[in-house]
Amino acid sequence: MKQKNLLYTGKAKSVYRTDVKGQFIVEFRDDITAFDGGKKDVLKNKGSYNAEVSAFIFEYLEKHGVKTHFVEMLDPRRMVVRELGMIPLEVIVRNIAAGSIIRNYPFKEGTKLDPPVIVIDFKDDSRHDPMLNDDLVVALKLATPKELAEIKKIALKINTLLAKLLASQGITLVDFKMEFGRGGKTIYLGDEISMDSMRLWDKETGESLDKDVYRFNKGDVMATYNRVTARITKKPAAKAPAKKKGRTETGDGGSCKEGKGRGKESVG
Ligand code: 5GP
Repeated sequence: MKQKNLLYTGKAKSVYRTDVKGQFIVEFRDDITAFDGGKKDVLKNKGSYNAEVSAFIFEYLEKHGVKTHFVEMLDPRRMVVRELGMIPLEVIVRNIAAGSIIRNYPFKEGTKLDPPVIVIDFKDDSRHDPMLNDDLVVALKLATPKELAEIKKIALKINTLLAKLLASQGITLVDFKMEFGRGGKTIYLGDEISMDSMRLWDKETGESLDKDVYRFNKGDVMATYNRVTARITKKPAAKAPAKKKGRTETGDGGSCKEGKGRGKESVG
Protein backbone atom coordinates (compact mmCIF):
# COMPACT_ATOMS: atom_id res chain seq x y z
CA MET A 1 0.00 0.00 0.00
CA LYS A 2 1.26 3.47 -0.88
CA GLN A 3 0.63 6.46 1.36
CA LYS A 4 -0.59 9.43 -0.67
CA ASN A 5 -1.57 13.00 0.18
CA LEU A 6 -2.49 14.27 3.62
CA LEU A 7 -6.24 14.54 3.94
CA TYR A 8 -6.68 15.83 7.46
CA THR A 9 -4.55 16.63 10.43
CA GLY A 10 -5.93 16.71 13.96
CA LYS A 11 -4.31 17.41 17.32
CA ALA A 12 -2.68 13.99 17.59
CA LYS A 13 -3.39 12.09 14.37
CA SER A 14 -3.03 12.64 10.64
CA VAL A 15 -5.08 10.94 7.95
CA TYR A 16 -3.65 10.15 4.51
CA ARG A 17 -5.15 8.90 1.29
CA THR A 18 -3.73 5.68 -0.14
CA ASP A 19 -3.58 3.94 -3.49
CA VAL A 20 -6.26 1.52 -2.27
CA LYS A 21 -9.84 2.59 -2.87
CA GLY A 22 -11.85 3.00 0.32
CA GLN A 23 -8.84 2.79 2.63
CA PHE A 24 -6.95 5.51 4.48
CA ILE A 25 -3.88 5.52 6.67
CA VAL A 26 -4.15 7.05 10.15
CA GLU A 27 -0.83 8.11 11.63
CA PHE A 28 -0.70 8.41 15.42
CA ARG A 29 1.69 11.27 16.11
CA ASP A 30 3.63 11.97 19.31
CA ASP A 31 1.78 15.24 19.92
CA ILE A 32 -0.21 15.46 23.10
CA THR A 33 -2.56 18.32 23.94
CA ALA A 34 -5.03 19.20 26.67
CA PHE A 35 -7.27 22.08 27.71
CA ASP A 36 -8.42 22.89 24.21
CA GLY A 37 -4.85 22.91 22.94
CA GLY A 38 -3.77 25.21 25.81
CA LYS A 39 -1.24 22.62 26.94
CA LYS A 40 0.88 20.99 24.23
CA ASP A 41 3.88 18.70 24.11
CA VAL A 42 5.59 16.14 21.96
CA LEU A 43 6.27 12.93 23.87
CA LYS A 44 8.48 10.36 22.17
CA ASN A 45 6.63 7.11 21.32
CA LYS A 46 3.29 8.34 22.61
CA GLY A 47 1.77 7.78 19.14
CA SER A 48 2.84 4.17 18.97
CA TYR A 49 1.43 3.37 22.44
CA ASN A 50 -1.95 4.80 21.47
CA ALA A 51 -1.86 3.04 18.09
CA GLU A 52 -1.04 -0.30 19.70
CA VAL A 53 -3.81 -0.02 22.26
CA SER A 54 -6.34 1.18 19.68
CA ALA A 55 -5.49 -1.69 17.31
CA PHE A 56 -5.76 -4.21 20.14
CA ILE A 57 -9.13 -2.84 21.26
CA PHE A 58 -10.51 -2.63 17.69
CA GLU A 59 -9.55 -6.26 17.06
CA TYR A 60 -11.10 -7.33 20.37
CA LEU A 61 -14.32 -5.46 19.58
CA GLU A 62 -14.47 -6.92 16.05
CA LYS A 63 -14.16 -10.40 17.54
CA HIS A 64 -17.20 -9.58 19.63
CA GLY A 65 -19.33 -8.37 16.73
CA VAL A 66 -18.64 -4.60 16.75
CA LYS A 67 -17.92 -3.08 13.35
CA THR A 68 -14.83 -0.85 13.43
CA HIS A 69 -12.81 0.96 10.77
CA PHE A 70 -9.65 -1.00 11.66
CA VAL A 71 -7.99 -2.95 8.84
CA GLU A 72 -4.36 -3.53 9.90
CA MET A 73 -1.22 -1.93 11.27
CA LEU A 74 1.47 -0.95 8.71
CA ASP A 75 4.05 -0.13 11.38
CA PRO A 76 3.89 0.83 15.08
CA ARG A 77 2.21 4.15 14.43
CA ARG A 78 0.38 3.78 11.10
CA MET A 79 -3.00 2.10 10.94
CA VAL A 80 -4.89 1.22 7.76
CA VAL A 81 -8.57 2.01 8.17
CA ARG A 82 -11.74 1.79 6.16
CA GLU A 83 -12.86 5.13 4.73
CA LEU A 84 -15.91 6.41 6.61
CA GLY A 85 -18.14 9.43 6.39
CA MET A 86 -17.41 10.65 9.92
CA ILE A 87 -20.32 11.83 12.04
CA PRO A 88 -19.16 14.90 14.01
CA LEU A 89 -20.21 13.59 17.42
CA GLU A 90 -18.10 12.73 20.46
CA VAL A 91 -19.99 9.94 22.15
CA ILE A 92 -18.88 9.59 25.75
CA VAL A 93 -19.94 6.75 28.03
CA ARG A 94 -19.47 7.29 31.75
CA ASN A 95 -19.45 4.48 34.31
CA ILE A 96 -18.08 6.54 37.20
CA ALA A 97 -18.42 10.26 37.84
CA ALA A 98 -15.16 12.10 37.07
CA GLY A 99 -13.84 14.89 34.88
CA SER A 100 -16.26 17.40 33.39
CA ILE A 101 -19.35 15.72 34.82
CA ILE A 102 -18.25 16.54 38.37
CA ARG A 103 -17.34 20.09 37.42
CA ASN A 104 -20.70 20.74 35.82
CA TYR A 105 -23.15 18.68 37.86
CA PRO A 106 -23.44 17.85 41.56
CA PHE A 107 -21.85 14.40 41.35
CA LYS A 108 -19.19 13.35 43.82
CA GLU A 109 -16.05 12.01 42.13
CA GLY A 110 -16.03 8.22 42.11
CA THR A 111 -19.82 7.79 42.25
CA LYS A 112 -20.88 4.75 40.23
CA LEU A 113 -23.24 5.64 37.38
CA ASP A 114 -25.57 2.72 36.91
CA PRO A 115 -26.87 2.57 34.25
CA PRO A 116 -23.93 4.24 32.48
CA VAL A 117 -24.50 7.81 31.33
CA ILE A 118 -24.10 8.65 27.64
CA VAL A 119 -23.07 12.23 26.87
CA ILE A 120 -22.89 13.42 23.27
CA ASP A 121 -20.84 16.46 22.29
CA PHE A 122 -20.75 18.28 18.96
CA LYS A 123 -17.26 17.78 17.52
CA ASP A 124 -16.56 21.37 16.58
CA ASP A 125 -13.34 22.91 17.88
CA SER A 126 -14.42 26.43 17.00
CA ARG A 127 -17.38 26.05 19.39
CA HIS A 128 -15.43 24.09 22.00
CA ASP A 129 -17.42 20.90 21.40
CA PRO A 130 -20.70 21.87 23.11
CA MET A 131 -22.89 19.18 24.61
CA LEU A 132 -25.88 18.13 22.49
CA ASN A 133 -29.16 16.43 23.20
CA ASP A 134 -31.06 14.08 20.89
CA ASP A 135 -33.26 16.85 19.47
CA LEU A 136 -30.23 18.98 18.62
CA VAL A 137 -28.46 16.05 16.93
CA VAL A 138 -31.49 15.53 14.71
CA ALA A 139 -32.23 19.26 14.15
CA LEU A 140 -28.60 19.83 13.12
CA LYS A 141 -28.98 16.83 10.77
CA LEU A 142 -25.90 15.22 12.27
CA ALA A 143 -27.67 11.86 12.48
CA THR A 144 -31.19 10.53 11.99
CA PRO A 145 -33.16 9.34 15.04
CA LYS A 146 -32.58 5.77 13.84
CA GLU A 147 -28.84 6.29 13.51
CA LEU A 148 -28.69 7.95 16.91
CA ALA A 149 -30.48 5.00 18.52
CA GLU A 150 -28.06 2.64 16.77
CA ILE A 151 -25.02 4.68 17.87
CA LYS A 152 -26.17 4.60 21.51
CA LYS A 153 -26.80 0.86 21.34
CA ILE A 154 -23.32 0.22 19.90
CA ALA A 155 -21.74 2.61 22.42
CA LEU A 156 -23.25 0.70 25.34
CA LYS A 157 -22.20 -2.64 23.85
CA ILE A 158 -18.64 -1.35 23.44
CA ASN A 159 -18.71 -0.08 27.01
CA THR A 160 -19.70 -3.49 28.36
CA LEU A 161 -17.03 -5.28 26.31
CA LEU A 162 -14.29 -2.78 27.06
CA ALA A 163 -15.04 -2.60 30.79
CA LYS A 164 -14.79 -6.39 30.93
CA LEU A 165 -11.50 -6.50 29.00
CA LEU A 166 -9.93 -3.83 31.21
CA ALA A 167 -11.29 -5.31 34.44
CA SER A 168 -9.43 -8.53 33.57
CA GLN A 169 -6.24 -6.43 33.77
CA GLY A 170 -7.19 -4.77 37.06
CA ILE A 171 -8.23 -1.53 35.35
CA THR A 172 -11.48 0.35 35.91
CA LEU A 173 -13.01 1.99 32.84
CA VAL A 174 -14.24 5.28 34.30
CA ASP A 175 -15.34 6.84 30.99
CA PHE A 176 -14.28 7.03 27.36
CA LYS A 177 -15.00 8.82 24.10
CA MET A 178 -15.92 7.29 20.76
CA GLU A 179 -16.46 8.62 17.26
CA PHE A 180 -18.57 6.88 14.63
CA GLY A 181 -18.87 7.06 10.86
CA ARG A 182 -20.97 5.74 8.01
CA GLY A 183 -19.70 3.09 5.60
CA GLY A 184 -22.60 2.68 3.20
CA LYS A 185 -25.62 2.24 5.44
CA THR A 186 -23.62 0.73 8.27
CA ILE A 187 -22.39 2.57 11.35
CA TYR A 188 -18.74 1.83 12.19
CA LEU A 189 -16.63 2.75 15.20
CA GLY A 190 -13.89 5.10 13.94
CA ASP A 191 -11.12 7.30 15.35
CA GLU A 192 -9.23 5.68 18.25
CA ILE A 193 -9.74 4.16 21.65
CA SER A 194 -6.58 4.84 23.59
CA MET A 195 -5.15 6.37 26.74
CA ASP A 196 -5.92 9.77 25.20
CA SER A 197 -9.63 9.01 24.95
CA MET A 198 -10.31 6.79 27.99
CA ARG A 199 -10.23 7.62 31.68
CA LEU A 200 -8.72 4.61 33.45
CA TRP A 201 -8.07 3.98 37.12
CA ASP A 202 -6.06 1.18 38.66
CA LYS A 203 -8.59 -1.00 40.47
CA GLU A 204 -6.37 -1.42 43.55
CA THR A 205 -4.72 1.97 43.96
CA GLY A 206 -7.04 4.33 42.09
CA GLU A 207 -3.98 5.60 40.21
CA SER A 208 -4.72 7.41 36.91
CA LEU A 209 -3.55 5.41 33.89
CA ASP A 210 -4.49 7.80 31.09
CA LYS A 211 -4.13 11.34 29.77
CA ASP A 212 -5.18 12.77 33.16
CA VAL A 213 -1.54 12.07 34.14
CA TYR A 214 -0.58 14.68 31.52
CA ARG A 215 -3.52 17.03 32.08
CA PHE A 216 -2.96 17.31 35.81
CA ASN A 217 0.82 16.66 36.07
CA LYS A 218 0.29 13.47 38.02
CA GLY A 219 3.59 11.86 37.06
CA ASP A 220 5.60 10.43 34.18
CA VAL A 221 3.14 10.28 31.27
CA MET A 222 5.18 8.00 29.04
CA ALA A 223 6.00 5.57 31.84
CA THR A 224 2.27 5.35 32.52
CA TYR A 225 1.39 4.86 28.82
CA ASN A 226 4.09 2.19 28.56
CA ARG A 227 2.83 0.26 31.58
CA VAL A 228 -0.84 0.54 30.68
CA THR A 229 -0.15 -0.53 27.07
CA ALA A 230 1.57 -3.65 28.39
CA ARG A 231 -1.31 -4.35 30.76
CA ILE A 232 -4.06 -3.88 28.17
CA THR A 233 -2.31 -5.86 25.42
CA LYS A 234 -1.00 -8.38 27.98
CA LYS A 235 2.56 -7.99 26.75
CA PRO A 236 5.71 -7.24 28.73
CA ALA A 237 6.37 -3.51 29.16
CA ALA A 238 8.84 -2.09 26.61
CA LYS A 239 11.02 -0.44 29.25
CA ALA A 240 11.63 -0.93 32.94
CA PRO A 241 8.38 -0.15 34.77
CA ALA A 242 8.33 3.29 36.30
CA LYS A 243 7.71 4.09 39.96
CA LYS A 244 4.09 3.88 41.03
CA LYS A 245 2.35 7.16 41.64
CA GLY A 246 -0.75 7.36 43.75
CA ARG A 247 -3.71 9.60 42.98
CA THR A 248 -3.25 13.08 44.32
CA GLU A 249 -5.29 14.46 47.21
CA THR A 250 -7.72 16.12 44.88
CA GLY A 251 -6.63 13.68 42.16
CA ASP A 252 -9.28 14.68 39.72
CA GLY A 253 -10.69 16.91 37.09
CA GLY A 254 -12.56 18.68 39.88
CA SER A 255 -9.42 20.56 40.73
CA CYS A 256 -9.20 21.93 37.20
CA LYS A 257 -8.81 25.67 37.50
CA GLU A 258 -9.32 26.41 33.81
CA GLY A 259 -12.99 25.99 34.71
CA LYS A 260 -14.58 27.40 31.57
CA GLY A 261 -17.54 25.07 31.81
CA ARG A 262 -17.77 21.89 29.79
CA GLY A 263 -15.71 23.32 26.97
CA LYS A 264 -12.71 21.37 25.81
CA GLU A 265 -10.64 23.44 28.20
CA SER A 266 -11.41 20.47 30.38
CA VAL A 267 -10.09 17.77 28.12
CA GLY A 268 -8.81 17.31 24.61
P1 5GP B 1 -14.51 14.79 30.20
O1 5GP B 1 -15.81 15.28 29.61
O2 5GP B 1 -14.71 14.27 31.59
O3 5GP B 1 -13.43 15.82 30.13
O4 5GP B 1 -14.04 13.57 29.28
C1 5GP B 1 -14.73 12.34 29.33
C2 5GP B 1 -13.95 11.27 28.61
O5 5GP B 1 -13.97 11.50 27.21
C3 5GP B 1 -12.49 11.21 29.00
O6 5GP B 1 -12.11 9.85 29.01
C4 5GP B 1 -11.78 11.97 27.92
O7 5GP B 1 -10.47 11.48 27.71
C5 5GP B 1 -12.67 11.70 26.71
N1 5GP B 1 -12.74 12.88 25.83
C6 5GP B 1 -13.64 13.87 25.89
N2 5GP B 1 -13.41 14.79 24.93
C7 5GP B 1 -12.33 14.37 24.25
C8 5GP B 1 -11.59 14.90 23.14
O8 5GP B 1 -11.89 15.95 22.57
N3 5GP B 1 -10.52 14.16 22.73
C9 5GP B 1 -10.17 12.98 23.32
N4 5GP B 1 -9.11 12.31 22.86
N5 5GP B 1 -10.85 12.46 24.36
C10 5GP B 1 -11.90 13.14 24.83
